[in-house]
Amino acid sequence: MRSMSALPEHGIPAERVLEELRAMRGADLPTHGGRLFAYVYDPGLPGLDELAAAAHALSAHVNGLDPTAFPSLLAMENDLVGAAVQVLGGDEHTVGSVTGGGTESLILAVKAARDAHPEIAAPRLVMPVTAHAALAKAAAYLRIALDTIPVDPHTLRVDPAAVAAAITPDTVLVACSAPSYAHGLIDPVEPIAAAAAAAGVRCHVDACFGGWTLPYLRRLGEPIPPFDLSVPGVTSISVDLHKYAYTPKGVSVLLHRTEALRAPQYFGYADWPGYTMVNPVISSTRSGGPIAAAWATLRHIGDDGYLALAERTRDATRAIAGAVEKIEDLAVVPRESTVVAFMSTGVDLFVLADELAARGWHTQPQFRHGEIPPSMHLTVTAAVAPRVAEFEADLAEAVAAARAHGPVQLPDGILDLLASAGVDQLAGALGLGSGGALPERMAVVNTLLNVVDPAVRERLLVAFLSLLQRPSPRP
Ligand SMILES: *Cc1c(COP(=O)(O)O)cnc(C)c1O
Repeated sequence: MRSMSALPEHGIPAERVLEELRAMRGADLPTHGGRLFAYVYDPGLPGLDELAAAAHALSAHVNGLDPTAFPSLLAMENDLVGAAVQVLGGDEHTVGSVTGGGTESLILAVKAARDAHPEIAAPRLVMPVTAHAALAKAAAYLRIALDTIPVDPHTLRVDPAAVAAAITPDTVLVACSAPSYAHGLIDPVEPIAAAAAAAGVRCHVDACFGGWTLPYLRRLGEPIPPFDLSVPGVTSISVDLHKYAYTPKGVSVLLHRTEALRAPQYFGYADWPGYTMVNPVISSTRSGGPIAAAWATLRHIGDDGYLALAERTRDATRAIAGAVEKIEDLAVVPRESTVVAFMSTGVDLFVLADELAARGWHTQPQFRHGEIPPSMHLTVTAAVAPRVAEFEADLAEAVAAARAHGPVQLPDGILDLLASAGVDQLAGALGLGSGGALPERMAVVNTLLNVVDPAVRERLLVAFLSLLQRPSPRP
């Protein structure tokens, strides 16, 4: 994409700036319409975007830094937290915070757990290896050692006894998922939380993905095991409103069972000549825009609206899983939430992802991890429902094309290049342009990333992103 000066010599009229922006947005994957099975959550409700945008605009310049200056924001945050308490099994003791996203909620849950134990010099976090990468990020940021517990590579389940056995006197937090992002499976929260409680350790449930669907799916009769604050031993839980509450990006909620558990999450500082800074979350100045947009979205959709959306999403998830099941060589992970994940015993998944993309369906390939095979991830939202028949036909075609194509052959010498060359050279050999151009077909790149170890994968992708993130040249 051509870059433009964000600081032209002479300012540009508003209407033209918007035209430019619309033109740039044309290069993005589609955020609406149920063809992108990751990153975006589309309820397919007419008028909702307009409402959220109007609410966002009304509060965009309100600053969450000081809720006493902007009581509207305090009220809306308390309303959002109250809604999460209602949905996630809280009671009159439950408190919480609105954060900017799932990662921030998780960092804060880990920080609160760490700072509750200043006497522990080398704190540790125990979690199944399937827990979200954001928890590893929290551990890295906060200098907490990570004990990841392997899962059975066939069932993808963690043994709660193995989680319990990993808890040591240095463990400040046990975390688990409801459900996991990668495969959409719900960890055995009850025995994990019981083990944590028995050891006197906090237990966080990462329901960032599923916190706004699982309770509704249960009301629809799906067999959802207990996972929320109703489970003894669960001390905190997170839910992203910018996922299945279908709000614009930038809103998650972190709940704690009691105010005492939340206390170490806060940061207060008066030891300077300026204002006393008191922050519940990582950011200090925060826009009221996302919070107002979320508040408007929840009030507009309502409990009955979310139930109806969950029903549509469940039906779409079932139908998509059914379409995948019909294909020989593809094996669907048992469906417990709104994710359809599948492995392959024949057709090359990375080629299949390209073939689907060529037909306008954007899926998320996931790499091998230890004995866990590579898989395809599809986040299914309500907007997918009217597209199922179309998807099924295109999937069959894409599988046939992928079979005809056969598995990816890595270019000769690429693994040697990997060992010796810089990322620029490697990127060149793989057809990754500077300036953000990805090749039409990603199967070769994905195959390479799939065969290397996670540490190499990290190094390559960090370096590649760093290549992309360069300032636009001076006009
Ligand atoms: C999305 C997600 C996160 C991270 O949330 P962000 O909003 O992307 O920061 C954490 N955990 C789970 C299970 C998720 O699905």
